[in-house]
Amino acid sequence: MSKTSLLLSLLCFSTFAATANNFYPDNARYAISLSFDDARKSQVDIGLPLLDRYKVKGTFYVMPDQMQEKALQWKAAAINGHEIANHTKNHLCTGNFRWLREKGKGLEQVNLDFIEKDIQLSQQEISALTGKTPEGFAYPCGQTFVGRGEAVQSYVPFIAKSFNYGRTWNDETANDPLYYDPAQIRAFNMDGKTFDQLKALLERAKFENAWIVFAGHEVGQKALYTIDEKALEQLIVYLQEPKNGYWLATVAEVNTFIQKTKR
Ligand SMILES: [Zn+2]
Repeated sequence: MSKTSLLLSLLCFSTFAATANNFYPDNARYAISLSFDDARKSQVDIGLPLLDRYKVKGTFYVMPDQMQEKALQWKAAAINGHEIANHTKNHLCTGNFRWLREKGKGLEQVNLDFIEKDIQLSQQEISALTGKTPEGFAYPCGQTFVGRGEAVQSYVPFIAKSFNYGRTWNDETANDPLYYDPAQIRAFNMDGKTFDQLKALLERAKFENAWIVFAGHEVGQKALYTIDEKALEQLIVYLQEPKNGYWLATVAEVNTFIQKTKR
């Protein structure tokens, strides 16, 4: 065998090995990311200290206005290696939320130009507040459209052009590293669940090499929009146990790893 063909066989083998059951760093079989939306205060007061205690990096999708009151803590979190990413300036979702509709900020009421400017403004303000430019985006309410009926347009192409990735919400599947679209990374809702329910969700969601993304809002006592602090701690302990096979990293980190490994 010539040196070149030996090298080629080795390359083929390593490509194959990368799709076998040690796809992720540290021989992990699955990747998981913990993400938190809206820059809620309890994320700073309870969530970040908990993650820091276990040396876990989280991903936080923020609106700059919501960051103002805890601006210094958000900046410190960014410096400390947590991912701070874009969640628009005005959190546009469907105008079936009457409070949004009354402000003229229902997704059915706006066009692509409006949402793009809103996202760009948020990007500038988050960069100014944290000193770091976000590389990721999360669609408010997980919704990816503007307009209504035959005039509906998707703003996914704008996110694909402007960011390394976009994350949706309230999905029903994990991401397959060999197939997923970085502009629409799927995420499960982790709010309001006990640790046992979160663990059952992992068992249901995981497949070979699956990348599971969890998304929550407040951190505190289990409620509709709150991930329970105790459940989150138990989840972290479970995910950090090597025999369970998970690589726990930010959304940006896992996305970059997969994109590089696939090349
Ligand atoms: Zn949100």
